Amino acid sequence: MALHLKATVLPEGVEREIWVRDGIISHTPAPNAETVLDGGYLLPGLVDAHCHISLENLGAAPRGVSRAHALQDRDAGTLLIREAGAPDDTHWTGDDPDLPRIIRAGRWIARPMRYLMGYAVEVEPGQLVAEVAKQAANSDGWVKIIGDWIDRKVGDLAPLWPADVAAAAIAQAHRLGVKMTAHCFGEESVAQLVRAGIDCIEHGTGADTQTLKIMAERQIPIVPTMTNLENFPIFAAAGDAKFPVYGSHMRALYARRFETMREAFELGVPLYCGTDAGGTVPHGLIAGEVKLMAKFSNNEFALGAASWNARKWLCVPHTLADGCPADFVAYAGDPRENLDVLDHPEFVVLAGRLHLPHAVAIPDVESSR
Ligand SMILES: [Zn+2]
Repeated sequence: MALHLKATVLPEGVEREIWVRDGIISHTPAPNAETVLDGGYLLPGLVDAHCHISLENLGAAPRGVSRAHALQDRDAGTLLIREAGAPDDTHWTGDDPDLPRIIRAGRWIARPMRYLMGYAVEVEPGQLVAEVAKQAANSDGWVKIIGDWIDRKVGDLAPLWPADVAAAAIAQAHRLGVKMTAHCFGEESVAQLVRAGIDCIEHGTGADTQTLKIMAERQIPIVPTMTNLENFPIFAAAGDAKFPVYGSHMRALYARRFETMREAFELGVPLYCGTDAGGTVPHGLIAGEVKLMAKFSNNEFALGAASWNARKWLCVPHTLADGCPADFVAYAGDPRENLDVLDHPEFVVLAGRLHLPHAVAIPDVESSR
């Protein structure tokens, strides 16, 4: 059955009638269409540019749990996910039309003892270039390395990879036609990797002015994951007893997080919304991430960073234009005026199918194994 909607379409802000037929948006009437919205606002489907649907605290979640995570994201308006590293292979979601589209980056690549246990493929620097090729072969155009983590011998954050090894790994990714991104909390790793030609930085709390200027010039984005940065004091406290330098370093990065990201915004560094859901961060929090980003930018920028601009960056530029795949979210009010509107989508349309928000029960992890 075809759908008919009359609403204000963003980002243009013009009122329009659209029809949805066979998963595609049409600007010409479809016969026997059911009117599902008259008034309200439509936004190109939201993007969570840093999300892990299959992650739970100790590693990979059973499929039923991962699916429930993805449904929580979808009902919050997230119709496109960039999976910034995974503990397993989530290509199975591609067969399920009810789930958000996912752009995968393979498994995280880290070094032994230098990341959370049970998450990443762990290799020594000598194997990094080869591992990049392996992960690239099973990804959707991205690979992800851990750029820095606590080094227990140093007692503080430190880069995982010698600079020449990181540069060779980035060059390898580019030879294979994929982009590389990196987890970076501290100052050194982001400075090193940006100069080595990386394509994106996750978190980026340690980016200094010089590095941000290069990122602006080369249009290298940061996905700051503001939602997860709120947990830095917890990470700091967990390290305090054994690693007090690390603890105070994390608190300092946390204290200036809005300043750092405001500077990135003002310099023109591309910024995109990502919640870092999975593990400790719950799913379905994209609205909160948009609000946190708006705190150091503005409503329209933050909306674009979670919708049309993020889609353009990820080469999934579905909008509400005639002929586009029908992936959009309907709201009663204007999110440009009030971002709280994002908390309650009326419904989402994903691949042409309408889904009303519902309470998603997360299956018990142990019993669903
Ligand atoms: Zn993450």
